[in-house]
Amino acid sequence: MSPDAGGASLDYLYHRNPEPGAIIEVAPGVSWLTMPLPSSLNHINLWLLEDGDGVAIVDTGIFSQVTRDHWQRVFAGPLAGRRVTRLFVTHAHPDHIGLAGWLTELLGTELWISETEWNMGRRFSLDPGKILTESGLALFKRGGLSASAEALMQARTLARVPSSPVPELYHRLEDDMILHIGARDWRVLIGRGHAPEHCCLWCPELDILIAGDQVLPKITPNVSLWPGRDDDNPLGSFLATMDKLERALPDSVLVLPSHNLPFHRLYNRLQQLRDHHAARMADVLTACDRPKTAAEMVPLLFQRKLDQRQTTFAMGEALAHLQYGAMTERLERGERPDGAWVFRRI
Ligand SMILES: [Zn+2]
Repeated sequence: MSPDAGGASLDYLYHRNPEPGAIIEVAPGVSWLTMPLPSSLNHINLWLLEDGDGVAIVDTGIFSQVTRDHWQRVFAGPLAGRRVTRLFVTHAHPDHIGLAGWLTELLGTELWISETEWNMGRRFSLDPGKILTESGLALFKRGGLSASAEALMQARTLARVPSSPVPELYHRLEDDMILHIGARDWRVLIGRGHAPEHCCLWCPELDILIAGDQVLPKITPNVSLWPGRDDDNPLGSFLATMDKLERALPDSVLVLPSHNLPFHRLYNRLQQLRDHHAARMADVLTACDRPKTAAEMVPLLFQRKLDQRQTTFAMGEALAHLQYGAMTERLERGERPDGAWVFRRI
């Protein structure tokens, strides 16, 4: 995720987020709460949907004692005596799915999620160290950083992202599926590029989109090539999703994003995100007049100091742009003997 200049031309309904533990009703039967995050993102937005005699939860917050304490306060306070009917998870990133195991067990409720996100979240929760170390090293190798001790250390730093076991049983969310939640219908819209099978939820009656991380104001969702998926084109998928959302949704929709504030003017934001990636692609193509690896591209794309975790995201993001260039036949992808990809303008 990186901050961008966009967001100024959007209309915000609120000036600030609710404090963790507090709840704000943003529409009939739709409430907003936040949980803290230990990163520059600072918080995640979660949603509560009235669901018959109970309430459904959308996303969980990160697996930490602090977040669990906040949840306990919510259950003892605003949700006291309320049954939780189900837990929806938009995608398998740790701030969204981190407490799925804990919440479903505590509340005796069931998880609703897409198959790919369940699969990733489940594997990750069972063995985060192994997956992150292996995928981190694969990413560094493709990106042109040697599998040095430093790279290994970076991967292990990432492996400390905590997690709780993602339940074995789940209800599968699929594209275009209609969910009856309380008195209203919500349509599942699958988005790609930020995560492989990210679920957005749209209620036409309320004109509300629960956007997850697919569309965010002020920050550009991270779009990374996932290690081992050498022929994926995540940026192509992300841009196709921007088009899909514009076709599926009215511009009047109120967007409830997972970070920052709810906003109107979806089409403006979709265009800003397209423009952002188009500008970045133009820089990538120019730079590739001389052959480049992703590692050589990172300082050109991110002109600020990056910590280890940010460097890993930046490598994934640089590879996503280079790969998009190769997939649209503007760049040629070659491979060095050490497995690193080198991209050259055609
Ligand atoms: Zn995410």
